[in-house]
Amino acid sequence: MTARDDAQGLPPAPEVVQMEVGLLQNFCEILYCPESREAAIVDPAWEVDRLLAEVTRLNLKVTAVLITHTHNDHIEGVDLVVEKTGAAVVVNPREAAVLRAPGRMLVEVTDGRDVAIGKRGVRALETPGHTVGGTCYLAQGYVVTGDVLFVGGCGRTDFQGGDTGEMWKSLQRLMRLPEETRVYPGHDYGDTPTSTIAHEIRSNRFLRCATFEEFQALRERKRA
Ligand SMILES: [Zn+2]
Repeated sequence: MTARDDAQGLPPAPEVVQMEVGLLQNFCEILYCPESREAAIVDPAWEVDRLLAEVTRLNLKVTAVLITHTHNDHIEGVDLVVEKTGAAVVVNPREAAVLRAPGRMLVEVTDGRDVAIGKRGVRALETPGHTVGGTCYLAQGYVVTGDVLFVGGCGRTDFQGGDTGEMWKSLQRLMRLPEETRVYPGHDYGDTPTSTIAHEIRSNRFLRCATFEEFQALRERKRA
């Protein structure tokens, strides 16, 4: 399967609400089906009360928690969300261990698997490099990129499980998504809260690298 195919046959896209939480400029997303009112929360952390207040305001029922990767600032609120909603936790098998808990429903998703959210859905794309099981969630028209791709940047590769070569491949794959695809990153590190693949290809210096060697030099020089 070529990366160009990543967006083919996607289910209809969930509505998306982006919320910034905590002191590390983390973004969470609420993805929901407007017909069934079922919802998934991506990377719940820091301000679960605010996230669940928005869920209530929108008259939604949280049935899933989607994890982009298991760094603490992305999973700090999982326990509380599961306790309050009974949602299943969706994560890549390479990072599932840290989220296992007695009585919890854990759904391990590998590359290309679709995750239903009511009558809508997203597709898991394995994008390692920042972590071993880093996963982006692709919908028709947008992609939730965790700490793989930021507006104007990309995730660090010098943490445990990081790999600059894998990051390069993951970013190359994201660059082949339809260029109008909107990017929802894991942190508010850019000039704008979201961007598009086209904009990032033009302006993100990590994506403008012509070779892996150029990328590696830039990524491993800049620790941010
Ligand atoms: Zn991270």
